[in-house]
Amino acid sequence: ASMREERIDKTKTVCTYCGVGCTFDVWTKDRKVLKVEPQQESPANGISTCIKGKFGWDYVNSEERLTKPLIRNGESFVEVEWDEALNYTAKRFEEIKADKGADALGFISSSKATNEESYSMQKLARQVIGTNNVDNCSRYCQSPATKGLFRTVGHGGDSGSIDDIAKADMVITIGSNTAESHPVLASRIKRSQKLFGQTLYVFDLRKQEMGQRADRFFQPKSGTDLVWLSAVTKYIIDQGWEDRAFIDQWVNDFDAYKQSLEPFTLEYAEEMTGITQANLTEIAEQVASVGKLAICWAMGVTQHQLGSDTSTAISNLLLVTGNYMREGTGAYPLRGHNNVQGCSDFGSMPNFFPGYEEVASDEVRQRYENAWGVDIPATPGLDNHEMIGAIHEGELQSLYVLGEDTGIVDANINYVTAAFEKLDFFVVQDLFLTETAKYADVILPAVPSLEKEGTFTNTERRIQRLYQALDPVGDSRPDWRIIRDIAEKLGYDWLYDSPSDIMDEAASLAPLFAGVSYDRLTNYNSLQWPVAPDGTDTPLLFTDGFPFADNKAKLYPLSFELRYDTDDEYDLHVNNGRVLEHFHEGNMTYKSPGITSKMPTAFIEVSPDLANERGINEGAEVKLISRTGEVTGAVHITDRVSGNELYLPLNDNGRTAINYLTDNNVDKDTDTPAYKEVAVKMEVIKKK
Ligand code: SF4
Repeated sequence: ASMREERIDKTKTVCTYCGVGCTFDVWTKDRKVLKVEPQQESPANGISTCIKGKFGWDYVNSEERLTKPLIRNGESFVEVEWDEALNYTAKRFEEIKADKGADALGFISSSKATNEESYSMQKLARQVIGTNNVDNCSRYCQSPATKGLFRTVGHGGDSGSIDDIAKADMVITIGSNTAESHPVLASRIKRSQKLFGQTLYVFDLRKQEMGQRADRFFQPKSGTDLVWLSAVTKYIIDQGWEDRAFIDQWVNDFDAYKQSLEPFTLEYAEEMTGITQANLTEIAEQVASVGKLAICWAMGVTQHQLGSDTSTAISNLLLVTGNYMREGTGAYPLRGHNNVQGCSDFGSMPNFFPGYEEVASDEVRQRYENAWGVDIPATPGLDNHEMIGAIHEGELQSLYVLGEDTGIVDANINYVTAAFEKLDFFVVQDLFLTETAKYADVILPAVPSLEKEGTFTNTERRIQRLYQALDPVGDSRPDWRIIRDIAEKLGYDWLYDSPSDIMDEAASLAPLFAGVSYDRLTNYNSLQWPVAPDGTDTPLLFTDGFPFADNKAKLYPLSFELRYDTDDEYDLHVNNGRVLEHFHEGNMTYKSPGITSKMPTAFIEVSPDLANERGINEGAEVKLISRTGEVTGAVHITDRVSGNELYLPLNDNGRTAINYLTDNNVDKDTDTPAYKEVAVKMEVIKKK
């Protein structure tokens, strides 16, 4: 190698953005990220990446990085040394616990943090403080999918691997803008469609790229997917097309489920969803006749008041048609954040220990009590949504939020920030002075993925290691270390020298990860959970049956009631989601000039019909007013949306932030905000 090349470091890492979990070597020189080089052996992506993985790294060198701990002093913050910040935090936690009890404290972990950090956060809450009030931001996206799968097949993760989606004869996507939100996974579907004629049906409110490529594209009315899914399943059973042998051997509760389908006639489904009866029967015929079916879904399904039930309806359809247990089949909730799967897997949930073992189970709790030497409360704690409510009620006095801009990403911003103002003590741990951090009493400077070690778990349940490529900026520190040090200040010596020690402890306690160790995850090696003690992992779930007492899955009866609609005053529906270039609230991607130049601000998509009706042109400025708040923005006229549907990218952290419009409605089973159910009226500010 030349002299020049010798000064370049190549470090294996895992993408910090979406749940596809692309891995690559990152080339760095000093603090400069020179390039990203995926490897043939990258399990999820091979030699591909998307624009975010390739160019989305400038934020690590942003001038706006926090480099010192900050403590509030009146209206401003003062920089302090770590010892002072940690002592102060520990002291306030102790005081509030002594005064109001352990359940007056809440802990929110991040899907951007590593598995080891999620494990540490729930251990801090449960062992050191003594509360189950710990949750993570998958509450905002994928909890309903996890719930729907738990109820029916017993594991809350993708049934197989991305390879299985590629091998299916037919793929259905529902409420997923796959090409922009999971670009590398979408390219696998595109390839299968082209190479061996994989059939693609897309269901979405908006005709995005995959909708344009699909063999058939359907636009059901917002929030009605449960109805067409159930009607198609009913029609299949009525015709006798169900997979009898599979159901007899592997599925319980068929009769009760069949009975629950009675209301879901084709007439009713047409009326509720807008999909014609002829189309519904055609969908049923196609689904029943194809050999291997995989269904992918995302926030368009989950962020509704019936998000868990709709996810359940997807799993029911797969069970009735025998589309589990085999390669190329199954359920694929497409995880949004890089570690949205892992953060829940490793126990930052109010009702689960790591590996989805119930807090309420005496046997499980005792295992942790023995290991940690404390009593742990048997009742589940508060989830994120309940924590905000409990602050308003005066029951929660302290909140510790890690790597999440709650004040932008939670629904109904005005209500959430009003809660922050009521807190006695608020700790925010992040890379930047986020909107949320502005309300904090203590701000602890954390590091991004490139500056630490750990593991992330992608949408395929695949655990992958990231290695440290850069030194932390200033005095910033990895989240796991900060949490460990707070535990220590509170009298618990955790003795972790590195994330590997934390993983060893998790593996020793949670059977789902029994065989996980850093040695088995070196470089591009990865493991898909469950991982047996001998290190055997599970690319495809359920090959020996379902994880219930009799090895059988369960069909879960459902009902439907329209929970939300537009009315005469709030006459337009706002859909929202990602764009390719940006990620969530934009705290990382807006700090990458290369990306921001391609997509500087958010825009409001309006259909040609609606633009015509309101007399507005491209670039017009409008105000959207919902029942809870308002935003203003520029109009983009496009036939990707139709009729009274609007689309607003969710990636703006300024005046067009979607969560000024969203309200307190949640999925009835998981408290996930119903972000997609927003009715607004539109005022024209400037016609253009
Ligand atoms: Fe990163 Fe997802 Fe893009 Fe892969 S597809 S590079 S994981 S954002």
